[in-house]
Amino acid sequence: MGSDTGTIIAADTVSADTALYDLLIVGGGINGAGIARDAAGRGASVLLVEQHDLASHTSSASTKLIHGGLRYLEYYEFRLVREALMERERLLRIAPHIIWPLSFVLPHSRLVRPAWMLRLGLFLYDHLGGHLGGRMTLPRSRAVRLHDDPAGLPLRDEYRRGFIYSDGWVQDSRLVVLNAMDARARGAEIRTRTTLVRARRAGTVWEAELADARGGPVRTVRARALVNAAGPWVDRVLRDRLGVATTKHVRMVKGSHIVVPRQFDGEQAYILQNPDRRIVFVIPYEQDFTLIGTTDVPWTSDPGQVEISPEEIRYLCDSVNRYFHKPIAPSDVVWSYAGVRPLYDDAAQNASAVTRDYVLDVDVPDGVSGATPGGAPLLSIFGGKITTYRRLAEHALEKLTPYLPVVTGAGWTADQPLPGGDLGPGGFDAVLERLRADAPFLPERTAWRLARNYGTRAWAIIGDARQMADLGEEFGAGLTAREVDYLLREEWAETADDILWRRSRLGLHVGRDDAARLERYVNARRTGAPGPSGQAPIAMAS
Ligand SMILES: Cc1cc2nc3c(=O)[nH]c(=O)nc-3n(C[C@H](O)[C@H](O)[C@H](O)COP(=O)(O)OP(=O)(O)OC[C@H]3O[C@@H](n4cnc5c(N)ncnc54)[C@H](O)[C@@H]3O)c2cc1C
Repeated sequence: MGSDTGTIIAADTVSADTALYDLLIVGGGINGAGIARDAAGRGASVLLVEQHDLASHTSSASTKLIHGGLRYLEYYEFRLVREALMERERLLRIAPHIIWPLSFVLPHSRLVRPAWMLRLGLFLYDHLGGHLGGRMTLPRSRAVRLHDDPAGLPLRDEYRRGFIYSDGWVQDSRLVVLNAMDARARGAEIRTRTTLVRARRAGTVWEAELADARGGPVRTVRARALVNAAGPWVDRVLRDRLGVATTKHVRMVKGSHIVVPRQFDGEQAYILQNPDRRIVFVIPYEQDFTLIGTTDVPWTSDPGQVEISPEEIRYLCDSVNRYFHKPIAPSDVVWSYAGVRPLYDDAAQNASAVTRDYVLDVDVPDGVSGATPGGAPLLSIFGGKITTYRRLAEHALEKLTPYLPVVTGAGWTADQPLPGGDLGPGGFDAVLERLRADAPFLPERTAWRLARNYGTRAWAIIGDARQMADLGEEFGAGLTAREVDYLLREEWAETADDILWRRSRLGLHVGRDDAARLERYVNARRTGAPGPSGQAPIAMAS
């Protein structure tokens, strides 16, 4: 917990103009949210600002794997793979509702890599993370004869041998929101749709101007330390908002995914090797769909304006058609998304080879050192994976604490469940069974989705409902007014898009008319107009 010096000028005891926080975090992606949670739990007063919605950029555009990154072994990234494999175990424990195991079929293609190389890579993958005071809980990899195994059925006949291994699947944007919720529960302030316009050092603190996209005056706050977790914007924040020069830079690499109607039976995913040595994942998605990705395309334009190109769509279709019986064409694509990886620029020639590890850079004025507290440190984050966010947050705080004596205490996030993740001994299945028993009127898919999205918090949505009608207006695919109200009240949702594409992926299932009706409902709840069934306006999350 913070020492007295940290609470003398606590954020809520001074006027809005001069509020002083220990930490101002710029960026509400996974790294910003993870640092906010960790720091708040160590007693720091934290303000996180996100210019758009939480997870509205890279952290909702990932392949959604909690993985060591099998292919990074080829680039000798042993540190990263080991840390990521250890994190995979931890995250499966602290967020078992939104993260679950997924098995991957790796068909052997002798044109790309010899079988011995795959076997060696998988051996390392099975063992690199295994010293974490216990065994890995996911099954070890194994060889498979694809003609004799149901997992081989969708694959073309020339693929006879392969391997099966396991990794984790994550609802990426929900991981961000749950970290932000837990940070708030521990005292952090989370402000979405709030941009850091500029900041400068004023003595031993930062003075920062914040603009609210909903209107209102620019607000000034002060902070003892600044964390630049702006992902693909990290360079721009340094240069344009802070005027700080740095020798480290971000390398932006676009990655895109396509979604097509479900291509195969079974819960297994596939990892395909392409002739260019890249790999492409093919993953069962949202029950009715298959997710295919990703690409590596150098990117130099605005990271906020990124979308898939026709060439990328063709590339992903070709990858699938090389391996699967059932061909796909660009016309099968029902949805696509693209994101920009904010990689640390290690001067690699090829975009696929740029390190996926992270680098934390601390900037302090001349004459300030870790031995002299204060000095308004600035920590910038380059690179990182969703998988390693928790450890990255710990490293970030280790870097900052010498300058911030107010932030005390050791790392604590390894074992503390994220909101709704306290599933208990029976795990997910037991929670789902209880939910079905308490709310037998829920359609099967809705019960599953509520348990998966909210874990033990699902009861905060169903409350005392005894029939579907008690949950209020329906917007399609099992989304009801009660759930929408919960998302507005607890999870910073403010638009239909926030709900359909980030708090859930119901956008894939809900029709256009229902989405428009949802938008009207959300607007009415936010602006105070009586809701369609006369409800009072809702208190938004803050
Ligand atoms: C195609 C693709 C696939 C991937 N697949 C995986 C995977 O399967 N597994 C995995 O572990 N990782 C994966 N990753 C990597 C992972 O998604 C990223 O490393 C991670 O999401 C980066 O998070 P971040 O918080 O640094 O950035 P972001 O999520 O982009 O967050 C930064 C935020 O800062 C905000 N911001 C910027 N400037 C300002 C400002 N001035 N004021 C306020 N806010 C500001 C932005 O709006 C943004 O929301 C993938 C990435 C991509 C692109």
